[in-house]
Amino acid sequence: MGRVVVVGAGVIGLSCAVRLLEAGHRVDVLARDLPRETTSAVAAAIWYPYRAWPADRVLAWARAGYDAFAAIAADQPDSGVRMQEGTEVVARRDEKPWWSAAVPDLRETVEVPAGYDGGWVFTAPLVEMPVYLDWLAGRVLSLGGSITRLNLHGLPPTGSGGPDAVVDCSGMGAKFLAADPSVHPVQGQVVLVEQVGLERWWLESVSAEGPLYVVPRAHDIVVGGTSVEGEWSRTPSPEVASAILRRALRLVPELAGAEVLGHRVGLRPARPEVRLERVGDVVHCYGHGGAGVTLSWGCAGEVAELLG
Ligand SMILES: Cc1cc2nc3c(=O)[nH]c(=O)nc-3n(C[C@H](O)[C@H](O)[C@H](O)COP(=O)(O)OP(=O)(O)OC[C@H]3O[C@@H](n4cnc5c(N)ncnc54)[C@H](O)[C@@H]3O)c2cc1C
Repeated sequence: MGRVVVVGAGVIGLSCAVRLLEAGHRVDVLARDLPRETTSAVAAAIWYPYRAWPADRVLAWARAGYDAFAAIAADQPDSGVRMQEGTEVVARRDEKPWWSAAVPDLRETVEVPAGYDGGWVFTAPLVEMPVYLDWLAGRVLSLGGSITRLNLHGLPPTGSGGPDAVVDCSGMGAKFLAADPSVHPVQGQVVLVEQVGLERWWLESVSAEGPLYVVPRAHDIVVGGTSVEGEWSRTPSPEVASAILRRALRLVPELAGAEVLGHRVGLRPARPEVRLERVGDVVHCYGHGGAGVTLSWGCAGEVAELLG
């Protein structure tokens, strides 16, 4: 059991910190942005393996994530996690989704709004990120870890007074901290609207206009979104927000008249493939694109295994 520094306090860094603490390591989390300031705080967040590769590893991590979130939803009422049935709509019915093995209750449906051919009904973990990130940070502290704001210009050196190992969960920051030019932003914008009594979630993941999702939370509903490759801006666009709401209304007419409460933009840390590998005393764990929440527990478990 050694001393580990985790760089990053988004959903990936905090989940890795929890698993490493559970395995008996001493863990200090260092991060420029604290949990509620991260991209992770912007996520919708529904369990769904969107925009992350390679498919075989993503499927295994997503399956582990599904089970972990189901257990948290059952045991931890204050975690912001709940299991909820909803519908993914499709423009043209096809074979079962490639990730269907990760979901226990997937079934086909033709009861979908006009304009869609059919869809898939299944129970998914819904994760209310601000609440969940607070809960995760609380887990880190209660297990004896620490979380400190620090803007790093390089990964901390290991050995001779430094930590025994470093886990790099810096998301977009890995572009510089790991000198990895393949990391790039995929901008996503969402609109928060008032809760109008919606329980089920709705999703259209494959569309020329970008992903569309309506994710109900305790006090509001996250309506998204966009997926803009290479865009760095974090300023919400009023035109984009109007377009998102127009599309969402076709999918979920109950949203008509719902008051707009706010706008958020986040930069998904994208990469051709998630990087999860050990190089000497450093474990890199970044590049989760549009599925960091979904993959968090699966990846955290593998990171803990790599550090024994
Ligand atoms: C609009 C939107 C909707 C989304 N919806 C979903 C969804 O429904 N389901 C899902 O699974 N995923 C979703 N995602 C994707 C998900 O948000 C990301 O994959 C996830 O947040 C990545 O987590 P992370 O911990 O790697 O990165 P981040 O949350 O960005 O955290 C990175 C951490 O590294 C730190 N860091 C970076 N550089 C440095 C440095 N130099 N020094 C110190 N610290 C540093 C940061 O400060 C931060 O603490 C969505 C994303 C967006 C934008």
